[in-house]
Amino acid sequence: MINRLLKILLILTISYSCHAQVLNKSRITSYGVFKFSDQDKESVDDLILCCRNNLPKIADILQVNFDPKTLIEVFPNQTEYDQNIINKDLKGSPAISGYGKIQMVSPIASIKIANISYPDRLLFLVHEYVHTSIDQINPLMPTFLNEGLACYFGSRNFYQAVVDKYLDHVNNKPTVDQLINNYDKIPGVDVYSFIFIDFLVKTDGEKNLLKTLKDHSDIKSKNNNWIKYLDSLKHYK
Ligand SMILES: [Zn+2]
Repeated sequence: MINRLLKILLILTISYSCHAQVLNKSRITSYGVFKFSDQDKESVDDLILCCRNNLPKIADILQVNFDPKTLIEVFPNQTEYDQNIINKDLKGSPAISGYGKIQMVSPIASIKIANISYPDRLLFLVHEYVHTSIDQINPLMPTFLNEGLACYFGSRNFYQAVVDKYLDHVNNKPTVDQLINNYDKIPGVDVYSFIFIDFLVKTDGEKNLLKTLKDHSDIKSKNNNWIKYLDSLKHYK
């Protein structure tokens, strides 16, 4: 038993020291504690600036506090990220959050999704920060609203470009009920989640967004307008 325990401790120590060696730099900021490698000194400056330019206004709209104690690990490449990821099922993703932590692949390293500009790569951090704040709005928020908010506030340019380019070729119009209950089965569901938040803001105004997010009990009543909104995006292009 003790032998086994020692073995486990040894494994933990080894993986910890590998990890510490890669992210050997640290910066404590009002936007989180950054751990990063030598290559990312400048990217971290840019990430901090990106947080400063975006987080205060998002905090104001959503009435949340972004925790400055959040640990932000910026891995130098996809391999290091995948080896240390907090949820093994999401290996290959560019960023993830949970347990008081945000992990991301360096904004200067290559990732699977091609052609994302450097400023949009920086915004992945803001996207994850929005995810970390959802419980303050509504711990029971459906996944599509949670993802939609992160995309809307954290990756708006990127998703708007996807909508402009591809929506005309897509005939799927998921209902609100499907977005709530079949989230994992809808192709491109993150895009629809983004459009749904855009729809709420455009039809009810940004001021009413928070009200709908806090109490989404009658959100299905918006279905007719939602489907019309999806149609209108196609028609007026
Ligand atoms: Zn997300």
